[in-house]
Amino acid sequence: MAKVYDVAIVGAGPAGIFASLELCNAGLDVLLLDKGGEIDARVCPVQNGSGHCVLCSPCHLVSGFGGAGAFSDGKLTLSTKVGGRIKELVGSERARALIDYVDSIYLKFGAPPQLYGMGENTATLEREAASVGLTLTPVKLRHLGTELCHETLKSMQNYLSQKIDIRLGTTIKNIIVEGGVIRGIETGHGENIDCRYLILAPGREGAEWLCNEAERFKLSLDSNPVDVGCRIEVPMTTMEKLTSTLYESKLEFYSQSFNDRVRTFCMCPGGEVIMESTGGSDPVITVNGIGYTQPKTRNTNFAILVSTTFTEPFHEPIAYGKYVARLANILSGSVLVQRLGDLMDGRRSTQARLHNNPIEPSLQAATPGDLSFALPYRYLKSIVEMLQAIDKLVPGVASPQTLLYGIEVKFYSSRLKLTPCLETEVRNMFAAGDGAGVSRGLVQASASGIVAAREILKRSGKKSSQIM
Ligand SMILES: Cc1cc2nc3c(=O)[nH]c(=O)nc-3n(C[C@H](O)[C@H](O)[C@H](O)COP(=O)(O)OP(=O)(O)OC[C@H]3O[C@@H](n4cnc5c(N)ncnc54)[C@H](O)[C@@H]3O)c2cc1C
Repeated sequence: MAKVYDVAIVGAGPAGIFASLELCNAGLDVLLLDKGGEIDARVCPVQNGSGHCVLCSPCHLVSGFGGAGAFSDGKLTLSTKVGGRIKELVGSERARALIDYVDSIYLKFGAPPQLYGMGENTATLEREAASVGLTLTPVKLRHLGTELCHETLKSMQNYLSQKIDIRLGTTIKNIIVEGGVIRGIETGHGENIDCRYLILAPGREGAEWLCNEAERFKLSLDSNPVDVGCRIEVPMTTMEKLTSTLYESKLEFYSQSFNDRVRTFCMCPGGEVIMESTGGSDPVITVNGIGYTQPKTRNTNFAILVSTTFTEPFHEPIAYGKYVARLANILSGSVLVQRLGDLMDGRRSTQARLHNNPIEPSLQAATPGDLSFALPYRYLKSIVEMLQAIDKLVPGVASPQTLLYGIEVKFYSSRLKLTPCLETEVRNMFAAGDGAGVSRGLVQASASGIVAAREILKRSGKKSSQIM
């Protein structure tokens, strides 16, 4: 008779890993699956120096053990206010306790002790930001950097591989439900795996797949706002006023022209702009940023994202985001880069103009061009207004030399209807992390995996794991 796992987990990103850590010492049969490879086998050709994104399937940057977290900058945002809606789902007190618990596990597996966002200057910066119409949300932050983030996740892989079954290079194609209860999953090779509980943690990369499966089972889906924008690159020194105290500054603003919410996201001092391909079988190339334990470039990059909520009959936020990103792919072969001065002058950037620009693009493979051909006016206008507002706080951000890369899109726009313990409308099927629209970052993704795992432990009459 085929083995029946107590718990199968789809996706070995932070949500799947932390669910596994919570379950691994409880005496349950646990299987963790991911379509990507082992953490050390994940090598991105672009980062390895081959230049252009070759659309690896699956993309090494976002798939495999560690998920999108493996190449992330490893900024652990230790706040209930940003990075997801855990607080909304489980309440403030539990969310706070979960975040502290997640942090303690990252520390056990190798995260460094230093914290940002707690200095005396924080309140002064908050006041200064408010005086120019920006809201600065100071958050306690621990920074691992890409190298240490990789090592920390690798320690987790080593630890878990002795305690649970891990199957990498395995794509899950279908979820199997009988009579409203989870029965198992089917791999891309047609193998059925039976399980009593299922945790779906497919990340942004698998958000579209999850959405399609949810539609197949007629599960309720809400649309999150669509987050579309650009990655900005400026000299590291320009941003030092903020980054030396906060490391990452979470700035928010409502655009004058459209009253849309505009925010900074994922600030990487001394980091690099990178390409990633997301979207499963129909991928698009988007931009992102990574930072290192020690600065590797003289630039700081960060995203400016514009959130827009569309009205009925709109119901395809992921398709919309992909469409916008694809326009930049069509124009450039991958992603576009443009000087702010060129954008304002209504002309494209060229190789020659970039050559003379004092800021050297950290993503050399980006094609100089004109973002206004790809980004709808509403987004572009809001981004420029946000840059001009930040410029009042940090002079130089809206200089003509500033680089804009596009398109950056966050694919967490559809969210499943979930109970406070993250169960879906299918009995014993849980969903966690970015793909389920629960989180938008490492810490809350990790916390959400724990929430689902704890409910499974409770239903199985087991106790939570003692890690290490
Ligand atoms: C370059 C970069 C930098 C980042 N920097 C930061 C940062 O500094 N701080 C921060 O908080 N966040 C950062 N993030 C975001 C963070 O990585 C994510 O929020 C987090 O990884 C989400 O965790 P997750 O477990 O929900 O999903 P993911 O980490 O995306 O993992 C999902 C996994 O599921 C697998 N999967 C998907 N579908 C299937 C399927 N059908 N079958 C099998 N496997 C499947 C994927 O291969 C993937 O490995 C960054 C992301 C990127 C890409």
